[in-house]
Amino acid sequence: MKRSVSDFLIAIGVFLVSYLVAAILALNEYWLTWTAGYSYLGVDELPVALSFFSLMLAWYAWRRWQEASISHQQLSETIEQLRIEVEERKLAVEHAHVLSATKNEILENEYLRSKKLEQVRLMGDCLAAATSLKELQEISVTYLKNIILDHTVSVLFADKAFKNWTLVGAWGVHEDKVYTQVSLKDCQVLRQSKAYIESSNTQSMLCGNANLTSIKSVACYPIACHEMQFGVLHIRSEKLTESLLSSEDEEMIVAVCNTIGLHFYNAQLRAELSLASNRDELTGLLNRRGLGNTLKREIKASELQGYEVTVAMIDIDHFKKYNDSFGHQEGDKALRFVAETLAQNMRARDVVARYGGEEFILVLPNTSKIEAYKKLKMVIAKVAEDSHNSPDCKRVITLSVGIATCPQDHENEEMLIKSADLALYAAKKRGRNCVIAYKAPSPVKHDPAKSHPVKKSPAENSSAKTIPTRQVE
Ligand code: GH3
Ligand code: MG
Ligand code: MG
Repeated sequence: MKRSVSDFLIAIGVFLVSYLVAAILALNEYWLTWTAGYSYLGVDELPVALSFFSLMLAWYAWRRWQEASISHQQLSETIEQLRIEVEERKLAVEHAHVLSATKNEILENEYLRSKKLEQVRLMGDCLAAATSLKELQEISVTYLKNIILDHTVSVLFADKAFKNWTLVGAWGVHEDKVYTQVSLKDCQVLRQSKAYIESSNTQSMLCGNANLTSIKSVACYPIACHEMQFGVLHIRSEKLTESLLSSEDEEMIVAVCNTIGLHFYNAQLRAELSLASNRDELTGLLNRRGLGNTLKREIKASELQGYEVTVAMIDIDHFKKYNDSFGHQEGDKALRFVAETLAQNMRARDVVARYGGEEFILVLPNTSKIEAYKKLKMVIAKVAEDSHNSPDCKRVITLSVGIATCPQDHENEEMLIKSADLALYAAKKRGRNCVIAYKAPSPVKHDPAKSHPVKKSPAENSSAKTIPTRQVE
């Protein structure tokens, strides 16, 4: 039982008992007689005093009960308030937890995003420094792997003719189940020249790549610039979902694809420009500018590796007459014929260039003068023979050739060409259709500190002195 209730019952009890005792005493005659003896005032003071005392006691008990019940109520209220406060605090803590989890998620997402953006920046730097198409493709795949982490992805790049798009990189769950090659008809991105997003429950999807597996959703993006499609980024999932990527991720991927496309486009432009500035338009051979860099490089390599480089200057005989007789167009055909025959009869590492007009230059690395002499004799015989049978030539074409060797004749590329030109002049004087090796008027003084040692084969050592310089064969 609660204390306030028990206090109340005690007060009631005290009152009743006091009142009962007073009542019994008042009714008892003996008591009245006994009390009469003590009645000094003429009234029954004692019963009245007792009744008053009982009432006082009852009043006191009542007050105690009231006080107790009030403090009990206050206590209950305080407890209730505390309970509400505890509940509120609990809610606040829970809310704080949720907030901090959301905050952590946001922070984690921001961190991931900043890491991806850093990868995009690094990718841009590497792509800008790439020197070949293969390098561009490899760099793109390496960085795309760091940027697109949670999906199955494949990246295809176009060949030089933009006819086939070959798989260069794949990662994720189904990395092995993709086309290794895609043509225009298989790929919606290539067909439409824009991003393609598809999801379907059935097996047949428009995306040719998706049909190879149980893929249900694809998101494909073009790697392109100025309507030139260099590649396709193919992202796929087995889940049927409307959007494979969040809008933020999609935005980033589109930007990355555009960046890669731009670098491919720049590389293409650079290659075309360099080709145009280094190549002769009529024959496709290196032009004089292209030759300059190549010869410099070959002379440097010969120095480092200790071998000889021979340069041959070739001129078509009586070509003016050819043009005059058959026309400029026929002259062009004959020029192309000579260029092709020269290129076909040289080794892969030999350089064939059109020096200007009807003159060509050959750079023959690791070739001695006598080896070059023999080779050139064979080549001019071949040109003469083939021109006899070729529909591109209206008459037999003969060539005059002058050769000079580095370091024997000169170590400087300009002087070497000049020496070969002098030998060519001698060949013309000799009657044309011949090869003449340059022979310095007086022995070239060799500074052993400057010149590089040359390895010579035993056969060459025995025959080097018998080179028929200024000799027409
Ligand atoms: P030589 O045997 O002494 O070399 O006599 P040549 O007639 O070949 O020499 P010349 O220097 O007198 O004439 C060179 C000719 O080459 C003149 C020019 O019309 C011709 N030629 C130069 N470039 C081209 C070209 O691109 N196409 C055509 N068709 N002819 C060219
Ligand atoms: Mg000439
Ligand atoms: Mg000529």
